[in-house]
Amino acid sequence: MSSPTDTRARRTFAVISHPDAGKSTLTEALALHARVISEAGAVHGKSGRRGTVSDWMEMERSRGISITSAALQFDYRDHVVNLVDTPGHSDFSEDTYRVLSAVDSAVMLVDAAKGLEPQTLKLFQVCAHRGIPVITVINKWDRPGLDPLALMDEIEKEIGLKPTPLTWPVGQSGEFQGVLDRRTGHFIHFTRTAGGATRAPERHVPADEAADVAGDAWAAALEGHELLEMDDADHDQERFLAGRTTPVLFASALQNFGVAQLLEVLLELAPAPTATPTVDGGAREVDDEFSAFVFKVQSGMDTNHRDRLAYARVCSGVFQRGMVVNHGETGKPFATKYAQAVFGRERTVVETALPGDIVGLVNANALRVGDTIYEGTPVRFPPIASFAPEHFMSARAADTGRFKQFRRGIEQMDQEGVVQVLRSDLRGDQAPVLAAVGPMQFEVVSARMESEYGAAIRLERLDYQLAMLTDADGVDVLNGVRGVEVMRRSDGAFLALFPDKWRAHTAKRDHPEIVLEQLPASG
Ligand code: GDP
Repeated sequence: MSSPTDTRARRTFAVISHPDAGKSTLTEALALHARVISEAGAVHGKSGRRGTVSDWMEMERSRGISITSAALQFDYRDHVVNLVDTPGHSDFSEDTYRVLSAVDSAVMLVDAAKGLEPQTLKLFQVCAHRGIPVITVINKWDRPGLDPLALMDEIEKEIGLKPTPLTWPVGQSGEFQGVLDRRTGHFIHFTRTAGGATRAPERHVPADEAADVAGDAWAAALEGHELLEMDDADHDQERFLAGRTTPVLFASALQNFGVAQLLEVLLELAPAPTATPTVDGGAREVDDEFSAFVFKVQSGMDTNHRDRLAYARVCSGVFQRGMVVNHGETGKPFATKYAQAVFGRERTVVETALPGDIVGLVNANALRVGDTIYEGTPVRFPPIASFAPEHFMSARAADTGRFKQFRRGIEQMDQEGVVQVLRSDLRGDQAPVLAAVGPMQFEVVSARMESEYGAAIRLERLDYQLAMLTDADGVDVLNGVRGVEVMRRSDGAFLALFPDKWRAHTAKRDHPEIVLEQLPASG
């Protein structure tokens, strides 16, 4: 889509939301506005619409969830927009967090009737931790929901960001006529289209004519707008980029209302890719030589091509297909013979990519999550933090005759970061412990071990809820504490597993001499 000389500005973002808030519908609507697709329903194909759901895993299809993650790229008004897909299931995994290391901003999608929901809050915390600016979209305004001011209060109270609405709804939720553009004072009047399947026509009505079109709803919207003004809830770009405020838009993704405004706001306000900090405390500027980091690794997407795909975000320079780059971690060359853009089932070959773009590198067996690839001056980007697991299972090969396949599969799951794999001399190689942020990861492992490695596994739940970081000196001490067990992660770190946080507090109190640290709850 882009050429080597393509200097058009990039916007790379992800949508964070709770399942059912409308992420797939919004993705379609955005693509529709950018004319990537001509009819809504082509991206995720939910609700019986024409489907192009990724088919790499039977389980994914049967549950209607997307475990794969990739990016949708489209051109919009002299910009290139990259929407990085976040796997959206309530039992989300580390993948979801990691995707957020590859974006420059996030759109927090909120269901107007439900307000902030648990997964949205968790994902928001990751954005806050990484300093990613957040734009809020209140979705489903075509349906009865909460009062808009009450929603603003909730956002401020729950996440601590000051909401600064850019638009304000004309018509209560359920009677969505359009929005008041708070910066121009215009009424943006929406017209419904059949089933929301095509772009919704919009008409900009000057303020003095708005009441004729919208009736009493206009006066109510004006009143809301004035209250916000008095409350100092106007957009301030500096405070937004500093992560102190969140611009808010009102929308109906299903009706394609408010979607054009979201695109405009992304272009106008969301940050473009900037320099990436490096391990040595410096930074790689966007116009330096090529560099990228891997934020996701995946295999088994396509049963005919059992290869490994590594998704990398370009940090600097120009990526050109076929270039031979250096792999920061091994120092070995890596040939980028095949590079793809992947979204759902669609795969297209990427010829060039610029900072902010996402490329899927095929045959990337040497690449791991967090790895750096580069040209020219060596560079290493800081590792993507792994997350504090809360669920632990001991795993064994169901058929001991398939132990070789079992070991290979577990190794792969570990490298992909589907689960963290923990080992100890006590448990031996036959029964590693799998640790995950959410329990669904174990189902993913089970299904893939069987289908990809022919090694069915038996899982046994362990009574731990918390892992903390210790060091070699802490191993013997903590192994001596009742109910506690220390295991080694594949990166060499020692994790002490506790049945609950009280036991961890006690251990810390009784053994002040040993290292016992919290794992990052978010990257
Ligand atoms: P996801 O789980 O966040 O990807 O949510 P989906 O996009 O699949 O939407 C969940 C449900 O909400 C579907 O039935 C959608 O048709 C519906 N939905 C999404 N956006 C809207 C909207 O703006 N208005 C209404 N009324 N329904 C919506």
